[in-house]
Amino acid sequence: METIIKTYNRALLCDFEYFEPVNISEAVSLLQKYGDDAKLIAGGTDLLVDIKEEKIKPKVLVSIMKIPDLKCIVEDGTELRIGAATTLAEIEESRVIRENYGLICEAAKELGTVQVRNMATIGGNICNAVPSADLPPALVALDAQLKIVGANGERILPLEEFFVGVRKTKLKNELLKEIVVGRPPERSGTAFIKLARTSEDLAIVNAAVRVTLNKDGICEEARVVVGGGIGPTLLRSREAEKMLEGRKLDGEVIGKAAEICGQGFQCRSKSIRASPEYKIEVGKVLVKRALLKALERVGG
Ligand SMILES: Cc1cc2nc3c(=O)[nH]c(=O)nc-3n(C[C@H](O)[C@H](O)[C@H](O)COP(=O)(O)OP(=O)(O)OC[C@H]3O[C@@H](n4cnc5c(N)ncnc54)[C@H](O)[C@@H]3O)c2cc1C
Repeated sequence: METIIKTYNRALLCDFEYFEPVNISEAVSLLQKYGDDAKLIAGGTDLLVDIKEEKIKPKVLVSIMKIPDLKCIVEDGTELRIGAATTLAEIEESRVIRENYGLICEAAKELGTVQVRNMATIGGNICNAVPSADLPPALVALDAQLKIVGANGERILPLEEFFVGVRKTKLKNELLKEIVVGRPPERSGTAFIKLARTSEDLAIVNAAVRVTLNKDGICEEARVVVGGGIGPTLLRSREAEKMLEGRKLDGEVIGKAAEICGQGFQCRSKSIRASPEYKIEVGKVLVKRALLKALERVGG
């Protein structure tokens, strides 16, 4: 049974109805019923800021935090499923994620403060769709897929295809159910690096990479993903990946890949965090450092 609380919240200056559905189908029905008037709320660390700043005035809030199916970390030896309402703190503390999908933990630890990570969810970090979010680059570097639920059932979408612009996604009155990640192949090294003005701030630039070597130490597969203020969405640099794949990796090859990656940056002219010139230069440095770290971790 969903709980309905009619509330006028003076602190938030916004009059809304609040629902707490206990299963996914109830939540989806509410989204269908109220359409654009409704907003899903998970940890609220992004949404409540938007309401307070009067960027949005939803008439209906649908909390997903009482839906048990959205709070899970399940691993079967080949694949990891993380429920969208799982908090960053739960991810950080998960042994199975730390040991087998270390890149996700590495990115989660970089997000905000302990207090924020106790509330913030992985689904909220993805669905808010700011280009500076920390989890999406790491998840794209691991080829994550999203399970999305709407009135017409469930669909699966690669995370890489989910973002269409700043704070714009392919969700259509739908709910993100879970994030699915396959175990990285053997001989894979990963790394996530973030540069921010303070340890609690959103990224100026962040970079997540994976390199997978074959038995001869040649790079078989690479992922190079950059977020932050380098474009309206994160960038997966296939050109940089091509530069790495089929080669024995060293500082020179990695430096060239980082340069190539930088050519894909589309920095906006104005930003509160840094100038476009700075972001381009620092972005290339971060990619290079992340690739060197990943190579070192895989013993290359
Ligand atoms: C002080 C502070 C520091 C922060 N630092 C960082 C940082 O360093 N790095 C970083 O990446 N972020 C940072 N953030 C942003 C924020 O904490 C994260 O983006 C967080 O993961 C959002 O999750 P949430 O559960 O709070 O989302 P909410 O605020 O509840 O929701 C965010 C958006 O996603 C939608 N949504 C949520 N869940 C779903 C779902 N399952 N399906 C569909 N739509 C959904 C909501 O409708 C809303 O539009 C910071 C925030 C604060 C307040």
